[in-house]
Amino acid sequence: MLTDTIAAIATPIGGEGGIGVVRISGPDSLRIIKAIFKHSDQEPLKSHKLHYGWIIENSKPVDEVFVSYMANPRSYTGEDVIEVSCHGGGVVLKSVLELAIKAGARLAGRGEFTKRAFLNGKLDLAQAEAVIELIRAKTKEGGLLAASQLKGSLSSKIREARDPLVLLLAEIEASIDFPDEISDIDTKKAKKTLDGALDSVNKLIDTAHMGKIFREGISIAIIGKPNVGKSSLLNALVREERAIVTDEPGTTRDIIEETINIKGIPAKVLDTAGIRHSDSKTEKLGIDRAIKAIDQADFVLLIIDISQPLTSEDIDLLARTTDSRRIVVLNKSDLAHKLKSKDITSKAGCVQSVEVSALKGDGVGELEKAIFDSVISNKVVAENADVMVNLRQKEALIRAGECIKRAIQSAEKRMQADFVSIDLKGAIAALGEVTGEVVSDEVIDRIFEEFCVGK
Ligand code: GDP
Repeated sequence: MLTDTIAAIATPIGGEGGIGVVRISGPDSLRIIKAIFKHSDQEPLKSHKLHYGWIIENSKPVDEVFVSYMANPRSYTGEDVIEVSCHGGGVVLKSVLELAIKAGARLAGRGEFTKRAFLNGKLDLAQAEAVIELIRAKTKEGGLLAASQLKGSLSSKIREARDPLVLLLAEIEASIDFPDEISDIDTKKAKKTLDGALDSVNKLIDTAHMGKIFREGISIAIIGKPNVGKSSLLNALVREERAIVTDEPGTTRDIIEETINIKGIPAKVLDTAGIRHSDSKTEKLGIDRAIKAIDQADFVLLIIDISQPLTSEDIDLLARTTDSRRIVVLNKSDLAHKLKSKDITSKAGCVQSVEVSALKGDGVGELEKAIFDSVISNKVVAENADVMVNLRQKEALIRAGECIKRAIQSAEKRMQADFVSIDLKGAIAALGEVTGEVVSDEVIDRIFEEFCVGK
């Protein structure tokens, strides 16, 4: 148990809100709230009950509030926690926080509530990291993944991989310590255990790719010669009329940034100026930017007007994007088709294409699905659909995998049990880093520094 009591505003600071919450945690929480809160019933505050009353300063009312008290260990941090639901104005919240500090609390550091929850064993490290993922989730799907990790989906998978290794280690150590009493370990059985653990670890590593995409999103460049429907497609994707739609070729010169949600993937869209052969200076600038966007984007949507024959500009763009991850969008499918997919394949080889009508919205869902499938490689197995490891966890898993591989080699070569045992210990420790059983203070500090104050 930590001896000091911390306090912070737990809701976003700066704006106005219906309510705002000041959170206090630590052994002095109850004493502090008694000093600043007056409620009508004379009873002492009851745990896990809501209490109505006023925060008072020098006998003057500061705010009308609800106070909830959660006695340890049944609280977020595992300590005595008080939450004061105030009116959500900056001045009110600051006043209540200052009163709590005057009464003996210390201002909490970044992520200190969650850090205490971890130190008091309420959450393991993977779950604590899921808290920040949940807060930062950009799409509902990303949020659902974070929530299942908060509930322990990753932690239980780590345990499943780790437990058989711990058991195997115990057997090996016993055979080293008591060579006469315990027969040599069964190499075949040991190898099976190690192979199983390696497989689980590798499958977890594969979820990192999906995690990165849900967390950080991707960038998409929408390119095509003027008037093919780039702005219209962006509008169809955003489903809001943000970009300018016009009949005049070459007028969308700026790159407009939008973030759209492609089946849960946050995608930053670079709506590039129409690329076409032009002498005009401004238009040239737009073309340069579009070409730059092709290089910067994770994904390219190359739009071609299906109601027009293929032009040299289309062919040029097809050639410029051969190295990009791309989908060719055949737009204006509602009009008479003057273009066949073989016109494109004869010029650019096999390309993935989707027919849409940006104007009518036809095919936009199919396009989103095609982008999703292309971005999320389907390496992630169904049993791991509810986890996504982050970079720190991935690095620990890679180290665990390397140790297991070495242990397998030693077992195969029938090396001395000591060799297997050393690598087994390494693997167990590396897996323990994911959930925080084995982790340095420095790593812990780094993780919680990413949080905001009040969390
Ligand atoms: P951009 O220059 O590539 O951004 O093209 P715009 O989105 O400004 O569209 C150019 C013109 O094509 C506008 O008049 C749009 O209404 C029209 N347009 C865009 N998409 C479609 C479509 O799917 N079908 C039809 N019929 N017209 C479209």
